[in-house]
Amino acid sequence: MNKTSLSVPVLIVGAGPVGLALAIELGQRGIACLLVERNDRVGYAPRAKTTNVRTREHMRRWGIANRLRDASPLGVQYPSNVVFVTRLAGRELARFENAMYCAPGRNPLYSEHAQWIPQYTVEEVMREHAQSLPGVDLRFNCEMTGFTQDGAGVSAQVRDKANGTDFTVQAQYLVGADGARSAVRDLIGARMEGQYGLSRNYNIVFRAPGLAEAHKHGPAIMYWQLNGELPSLIGPMDSGDKWFFMPTKVEEGVRLNDLDAADLIRKATGIDLPYEILSSDEWVASRLIANSYRDRRVFLAGDACHLHPPFGGYGMNMGVADAVDLGWKLAALLQGWGGPTLLESYEAERRPVHQWVIAEAEANHAILSNHLVAAGLEGDGPEGERLRREVGARIEATKLREFNTLGVVLGYRYEDSPAIVPDGSSAPALDFINYVPSSRPGHLAPHAWLHDGSSLYDHFGGGFTLLASSAADAKDLEAIRRQAGANGVPLAVLQPTEGGIANLYPARYTLVRPDQHVAWRGDTWPADGSALLRRLCGMQA
Ligand SMILES: Cc1cc2nc3c(=O)[nH]c(=O)nc-3n(C[C@H](O)[C@H](O)[C@H](O)COP(=O)(O)OP(=O)(O)OC[C@H]3O[C@@H](n4cnc5c(N)ncnc54)[C@H](O)[C@@H]3O)c2cc1C
Repeated sequence: MNKTSLSVPVLIVGAGPVGLALAIELGQRGIACLLVERNDRVGYAPRAKTTNVRTREHMRRWGIANRLRDASPLGVQYPSNVVFVTRLAGRELARFENAMYCAPGRNPLYSEHAQWIPQYTVEEVMREHAQSLPGVDLRFNCEMTGFTQDGAGVSAQVRDKANGTDFTVQAQYLVGADGARSAVRDLIGARMEGQYGLSRNYNIVFRAPGLAEAHKHGPAIMYWQLNGELPSLIGPMDSGDKWFFMPTKVEEGVRLNDLDAADLIRKATGIDLPYEILSSDEWVASRLIANSYRDRRVFLAGDACHLHPPFGGYGMNMGVADAVDLGWKLAALLQGWGGPTLLESYEAERRPVHQWVIAEAEANHAILSNHLVAAGLEGDGPEGERLRREVGARIEATKLREFNTLGVVLGYRYEDSPAIVPDGSSAPALDFINYVPSSRPGHLAPHAWLHDGSSLYDHFGGGFTLLASSAADAKDLEAIRRQAGANGVPLAVLQPTEGGIANLYPARYTLVRPDQHVAWRGDTWPADGSALLRRLCGMQA
């Protein structure tokens, strides 16, 4: 291998969950890519713990959903309850069962349940898969230090930190999946807009053998502790009695060392155990979005272009969906069946989703343990009981939005995209909890189980999929296949017979994109079907 210069279709900067998702999406489509990561990306801090329904559906498509399930340190049967208590040693105020939809089992609305699993384990599974794909070259301790671009491509400089050498990468496209402090963002002149520093917080990972048995609230993924002394979140996250503890809205100037941290946990829980601190990271909640996601051949994805408080479990999941949206589009362009408008559609589609999710996360962040606590909440007697009932009712009414969010996770849609052809119907109202499947263009293709037990999604092709109803015309189907072939568009045709599917897809023809979003639907295939396909593939506006 020539160390001084490499050439690759796509250079990805950053091997967090977003860079890895993009490498997988490209690798599975046969597009070679180089993924550079400036450190070795190991550690205890889990950051994300919710891998949501949609991300796991992508994992199913990539063939690794079962691997993620098997990697679950607490086991997928562990109940995803969120319990509000005064302290772990104290009283219960409210509980949400099956938060985030982690319960295994068949749900008609989705093909995969969510999972409560530390981000480092999710990354391990993704990394292993990315590295197994031919064409994906993942290099740790390699830092992108700068790049230039012109009409023909991008030329980036990378420093191999292990041996101190520099090399150049010639790529057709570069994607900055380089996180909150993105250098790629700075280099394309994009700026984060919004508000930095909504709150200062700590994420402390510790080991405490016996803690699960030392309280009486039963298994849960999170316990919100509402007390005047130390409002906080605590929960198990890994095997070996590993837990996380998150004091929220920490005062300015407070710095935690390990001794302080152990003492804080002892005080907050009211349970005296030897707490061994494994890591302690400060993190700042912000609400920020980049003013541009692209400069010609360079794109931003994930935390590099959107940041919000991690309440609702959206950050990593949203970044994975960015990678999927961008990944198939870059692949289509590089394979010759996608055009430039497809790349323009990336920001047009993703930005409104980011804006919605940022608003949801900010609303969740506005109601933390600190805000729900009330003087006398730990008190004995009828007054204490009354107060706890009152606060419990307030929790149920205000925190549903954070733990039952299928409407956000599956109900987002792409309006005003140049790569989607609207059918004239108006957009249904947004709702965080109620996900109402719709085959209206821009929406996620409605999920269904087939009578053989498989998911409808398992039958979608890697390119476009035409769902044809029983009323489809054989001549139309023949024309669609011919026109897709003539334009080089990969197309699978499905004509399922299950009645449920006919209800979900009322149009005679529904065209679904590689990312499982509906691109077009209609009862008649247009006379110039080639023009329609070219538009959906970004060949013409
Ligand atoms: C306390 C906390 C809890 C969270 N909980 C959840 C949750 O439950 N669910 C959820 O979905 N999200 C959650 N998140 C958010 C989630 O962790 C992030 O959204 C996610 O890590 C973003 O992924 P990314 O790949 O965009 O960026 P990152 O994970 O930040 O990865 C970027 C990578 O790029 C590398 N890099 C940077 N610059 C360069 C360079 N010049 N050259 C090479 N490499 C470079 C970095 O080393 C880094 O490894 C949480 C976050 C926090 C802080």
